[in-house]
Amino acid sequence: MKTFYSAAHLEHAPANEFEGGRLTPIPEVPARAEAVRARIEERALGPVVAPAHFGLEPILRVHSREFADFLVSAHADWTKKYGPEAVEAVPSAWPALGLRPNRAADIEARLGTYAFDTATPIVRGTWEAARSAVDVALSAAQCVRDGARSAFALTRPPGHHAARELFGGYCYFNNVAIATQWFADSGARCAILDVDYHHGNGTQAIFYSRADVFYCSLHADPAFAFPHFSGFADERGEGRGEGANLNLPLPSRTEFQAYEQALTCACEAIMAFGADILLVSLGLDTFENDPISDFRLKSDDYLEIGECIARLNKPTLFALEGGYDLATIGTNAVNVLEGFEQG
Ligand SMILES: [Zn+2]
Repeated sequence: MKTFYSAAHLEHAPANEFEGGRLTPIPEVPARAEAVRARIEERALGPVVAPAHFGLEPILRVHSREFADFLVSAHADWTKKYGPEAVEAVPSAWPALGLRPNRAADIEARLGTYAFDTATPIVRGTWEAARSAVDVALSAAQCVRDGARSAFALTRPPGHHAARELFGGYCYFNNVAIATQWFADSGARCAILDVDYHHGNGTQAIFYSRADVFYCSLHADPAFAFPHFSGFADERGEGRGEGANLNLPLPSRTEFQAYEQALTCACEAIMAFGADILLVSLGLDTFENDPISDFRLKSDDYLEIGECIARLNKPTLFALEGGYDLATIGTNAVNVLEGFEQG
């Protein structure tokens, strides 16, 4: 399996997030992607190659021009206001219930309008990293369209929490959604399987009224887990997309036996939908030692997840989402990919 990777992610390295009432070290660090790349090389999974450049057009099929323009200049606008020592742009006010979003004003207003949390700082290298992650996802998509059974997009920053005009949860552009739209633009029917611990609120929102894209997610119940406001079982899609969204929220401390049952249910729904292409939002934060999550999956379980996905027998694009245990993220990610190849 070919892996697509860009070193541009290294320049996106915010230090802190505001969480639990404290400023704490951010777990979404460059070492995550480097650990996955190292394991791919160690296991000789296949070549690791640089992405092609796709430009802004495919991004603007999913995100608004105003949102993309905001991300281009957000860090410069921030340091212009607060000085060069203000290295991380983070909002401190939001247009929540009853207030008016403002896409045109001061950087504080625009940050608050587009962000939904305090965990996703914009630093000097964020734009280039986010843009390059999209190129990584689209290059993997191109590889699959050219006939490969599968490809791996080693995307960082991740993407599944980002919506049309919304960033958060360590995500800026929605890599998987942009690749999905790229396939859809050539007439393909796509299914997205999101196995990250957290619900992919951004991906769901982007395709919520679409009949040609099926989104299915297994995740921690938002009744107790981030992103809190999205991911409930009664969210089934709307309009023409009614029935093309399936959320399978799971309880705290879920073990593989229950997880596997939900995965089987997800795979049955994907088969019933009848997709031409499968895209997998590959989060590894379901692992038992993940520092920010509480599921109980073990490293061998990821081989079985890969085998289960392989049985769908679809051209498949895997893209990295979350997973924060640096000691095992490489092993667990590659276990899914090897399980797929053996399946
Ligand atoms: Zn996650």
